[in-house]
Amino acid sequence: MGHPAILTVDDDASVSRAIARDLRRRYGENYRIIRASSAAEALEALKEIKLRGGRVAVMLADYRMPQMNGIEFLERAMDLFPNARRALLTAYADTDAAIQAINLVDVDHYLLKPWDPPEEKLYPIIDALLDAWQATGDRELEDIRVVGHRWSEPSYQIRDFLARNLVPYRWLPADEAEGRQLLEAAGVGPESVPLVVTADGRAMAQPTTSEVAEAAGLSIAPNRDFYDLIIVGGGPAGLGAAVYGASEGLKTLMVERQAVGGQAGQSSRIENYLGFPDGISGSDLTTRARRQVGKFDAEVLNTREVTGLRADGSARTLTFADGGEVSAHSVVLATGVSYRPLRANGVEALTGAGVYYGSAATEGPACAGNDVFIIGGANSAGQAALFFSRYARTVTLLVRGDSLEASMSYYLIQRLNEIENVRVRTRCEVISAHGDGHLQAITICDSKNGMETTMECGFLFVFIGAEPRTDWLGDAVARDERGFIYTGPDLLRNGTRPKGWDRDRDPFYLECSVPGIFAAGDVRANSVKRVASAVGEGAMAVTLVHRYLEAQ
Ligand SMILES: Cc1cc2nc3c(=O)[nH]c(=O)nc-3n(C[C@H](O)[C@H](O)[C@H](O)COP(=O)(O)OP(=O)(O)OC[C@H]3O[C@@H](n4cnc5c(N)ncnc54)[C@H](O)[C@@H]3O)c2cc1C
Repeated sequence: MGHPAILTVDDDASVSRAIARDLRRRYGENYRIIRASSAAEALEALKEIKLRGGRVAVMLADYRMPQMNGIEFLERAMDLFPNARRALLTAYADTDAAIQAINLVDVDHYLLKPWDPPEEKLYPIIDALLDAWQATGDRELEDIRVVGHRWSEPSYQIRDFLARNLVPYRWLPADEAEGRQLLEAAGVGPESVPLVVTADGRAMAQPTTSEVAEAAGLSIAPNRDFYDLIIVGGGPAGLGAAVYGASEGLKTLMVERQAVGGQAGQSSRIENYLGFPDGISGSDLTTRARRQVGKFDAEVLNTREVTGLRADGSARTLTFADGGEVSAHSVVLATGVSYRPLRANGVEALTGAGVYYGSAATEGPACAGNDVFIIGGANSAGQAALFFSRYARTVTLLVRGDSLEASMSYYLIQRLNEIENVRVRTRCEVISAHGDGHLQAITICDSKNGMETTMECGFLFVFIGAEPRTDWLGDAVARDERGFIYTGPDLLRNGTRPKGWDRDRDPFYLECSVPGIFAAGDVRANSVKRVASAVGEGAMAVTLVHRYLEAQ
C-alpha cells in the first residue's frame, strides 16, 4: 500500500501552491501531498484514490470556493473517506461564518490564512490531525465485517458497539450478494446473523460483545490482581480519574461495560467544553482521552460490567457480571447515568429496530430521506435534531412541555429555528409504536385536546432523561432514594458521620460512606451533569485518593 494522502483544495492558485509546498516540506516523506484547484477536481482525485484502494489522512479545504464551498466539499468527501481528518482554510473576515458552519458539520479545525510561520500556525494543527487519524486508523482494507439484518436488534447491538468503540467495520446486509457469500463461506444460514468476520478471516456467528471486543484487539482481562486504584465506568469522569491517577504514578485500572466515552461519547457535538471554541464531537473527545489514558499506561478493561463491591479489610474488591474479581486500595465509582426507558405500547419490541436510545450516530446515514422523530426537550435532544437534520428529510422534536425554552439552551433553540427541515411539536406524547419487525408508525397524543394521531415513522430517537442504575451496589455505599451516591458533606446528618464510618475524620468531599471508595460525575448525588464537571471530579477524586492512601 502506498503512502496515505494529504489533500488540499483551494481555487486561488498561489495559495494552493504555497500550502502544498509547506506540506511537502514537512510531511512529503511519509505522505502523498495532493493539490486540487476546485472542489470538483478534489472529489475526482478522492474517487480515484478510493478505487485504487488508497488512504487519505487529512483533507484541507478553502472555505470560499465558487460552485461548491469548503464545507459542502468536506461533507461530500466524508462519504468517500469518513476517517480522514478535516480542516477548513478561512480568511479572517470569514471566521464567524466558518465557525457557524463548522458547528453544523463535523470539521476538526479551521486554519486562518496566511499561516506564517507554518511551524507555529500550520504544522501543530496538521500534526494533531495526523495523530488523531493514526489513532482511529484508516484500516479500511483490514476491516472487521459484520453481516446482519437491517432491522435486527442483535445486529444493531454489534454495529453500535463497534461504532462507539471507534472500531472500523464494514456492514454487509444478509440479503445482498456479498453478505450472502460471507454467510456461505462461514457455513451458516441467515438465521445465524449477526456474523462477524475478523480481518484475519475468523468467522463468529452471533458473538457476544466481549468476543467481538477481543477480536477487535480491545483488552478484556486485567493484567494484575491488585491495583492502587480501580475506576468503574469509562465516561468523562472515569477517563479524567484514569489520566490523573496513572499520570501521578498510581497503578490504575478503568473498567467499562459498554463503550469508553460514556454519554459524552454519544454526543454529536459538545459546544461548552473548555478549550474547544468550535465544539468537539463526542467521539473525537473520546479518541483523544483514550490516547491520553494509554500514554500514561492506565489499563482499560472493555465489555466488563461490575456487579458487586465489598470492603475486605483495607482492600476494596469488585466482582464482574461474568465472574472473577479484582481488588485495589481504592475505588472511584464513575458509572454515570443511563437512559430512562420510554414506557409506551410496542416500544420494547422495536428497540434497536427503529426505536433507539441516544443519538445512535450509526443510524445517521440510514436516515437519509426519511422522516425522523426525536422525543425530548433538553440539549441532548436538540443536538440530536441538529445531527439528524443533515441526513433526514424532516426531523420532528416531540416535547412534553409547553416550549423548549425551559429545558434547552438558547443557542440550540436559535440554531434549530434556522434549519428548514426541523420542526417542534410541543405538549405531546408518544403513546404507542407499531411495526412488524421494524418501526413503521407511532401514535402521538396531543395533550392540548387529547387527540390521538398515528403517523408513519421509521426512526424514533428517545432522550427522556436518565437514571443512575446503581442497584448492584446494594448497601455497599449510601445512596439517595433515586440511586445517586452520597459523598462528603451529604453524608453528614446533623454533623453525625455515616453508620460504620471508622475514621477519625469526616469523609472527604467525594468520598462515599466507606473510606477509600469515591464517586465522581453524574452518578454522584447533587452533581452537576456536565462533561467539564465530570472530568473535574475525576481529577479531584484522584487527589483525595492520594490523601486517603497517605493516611493508611
Ligand atoms: C446526547 C448527549 C449530549 C450531551 N451533551 C453535552 C454537552 O454538550 N455538554 C456537556 O457538558 N454535557 C453534555 N452531556 C452530558 C454529559 O455527557 C454527562 O454529564 C457526562 O458524560 C457524565 O460523565 P460521567 O463519566 O459521570 O458518566 P457517563 O458519561 O454516563 O459514563 C459512565 C460510564 O460508566 C459505564 N458503566 C456504568 N455502569 C457500569 C458498571 N456497572 N460497570 C462498568 N461500567 C459501567 C457506562 O457504560 C458509561 O460508559 C450530554 C449527554 C448526552 C447523553
